[in-house]
Amino acid sequence: MKSVTVSSRGEQRIRGGHPWIYRADVVDVDAGPGDIVAVIGPRRRTIGYALFSDRSQIPIRMLTHGDTPADAALIRERLSRAIRFRDTLALDATAYRLVHGEADLLPSLVVDKYGDYLVVQALSQGTDRLLPEITQMLVELLAPAGILARNDPKVRALEGLEQTVQVLHGHVPDSVVVREGPVSYDVDLHKGQKTGLFLDQRENREAAARYAHGRLLDCFSYHGGFALRLARQCPEAEALDISADAVRRIAENARRNGVPHLQAREVNVFDELRRLEKDGVRYDTIVLDPPAFAKNKASVPNALAGYKEINLRAMRLLNPGGYLVTCSCSYNVNEEMFGEMVVQASIDSHVPVALVEKRMQGRDHPVLVGVPETYYLKCFILRRVE
Ligand code: SAH
Repeated sequence: MKSVTVSSRGEQRIRGGHPWIYRADVVDVDAGPGDIVAVIGPRRRTIGYALFSDRSQIPIRMLTHGDTPADAALIRERLSRAIRFRDTLALDATAYRLVHGEADLLPSLVVDKYGDYLVVQALSQGTDRLLPEITQMLVELLAPAGILARNDPKVRALEGLEQTVQVLHGHVPDSVVVREGPVSYDVDLHKGQKTGLFLDQRENREAAARYAHGRLLDCFSYHGGFALRLARQCPEAEALDISADAVRRIAENARRNGVPHLQAREVNVFDELRRLEKDGVRYDTIVLDPPAFAKNKASVPNALAGYKEINLRAMRLLNPGGYLVTCSCSYNVNEEMFGEMVVQASIDSHVPVALVEKRMQGRDHPVLVGVPETYYLKCFILRRVE
């Protein structure tokens, strides 16, 4: 058996419930890239079994503890359990996440369902090596019409893995129609962001629909996620995105969903919010769902300045009684920092806001307790009090 010896700090970390060991806590390696290894403590005891990476800053991702072997039967059981859990959620959608990495005890593996098709991501050497077996298991468990590997995220480069998109099973068409609540989308699984859609916001779109009214502004709209859900109850609706392709998709989706009054504009949200404020335009519902501004710890101060800028402008654009749905998907900006930013934005804009709901990513993307890295999406619903 291949093995990796870790320091006593590494051992403590695992006993503390975290599945990752960093490079600095690896003492000795007798294993190759992507191997499943026995993890040995400083006193020569086996702590458990893990996926090994020889390039990553996270060489060890634990699969089991103690003597429990990490074999194909274990992986299959975890896949099957993850799928059964999603069944119990009775989600009102045909697209959702089936496997959310660490939270399903399948670290660095993502499996998303889009109707009859599956999209998988193997984000470490270990899951990359297991992918043919995992594909076979998914075929047996779910009989999908096709499985696509969206192995193009940048994190794969940190693992020394190539960035590729390839069909692993069956056939995956250029566009797939899925439904999320009352909204239907035409999704490009091969080229869309993430695995095609931002599935993690589904329940926040639903929640926002409890409050949305009047004139709507959806900022950082991508393919219209929030706008399409909310436009049916907002007589005026605008969606903003900097990407021409996204704006074209929003317009198509607006027609397909019978909300032709939804207007999409190709603009930079930072400039547009300033212009709207100057022009005296006001809204009753505003959504801010920007991309991750803080990709790492060093960029947190700049990211917070960016979040504050758009939040304070949005607060000023709201009519009294209006709602601001504000999100951050930067793991490095935690809930506390995000909350403090909202306070500062409210102070600087002189707009009193009340926090109506504090939310996170949808239930199909659960957070593994003790692993803060799995809690990345914050979504606050605020009401302008006067
Ligand atoms: N709200 C979407 C997901 C947003 S993803 C949903 O629910 O599906 C972030 C989007 O912000 C991307 O589509 C990206 O093109 C856009 N974006 C990034 N920077 C921007 C900027 N400065 N102005 C406008 N859009 C921007």
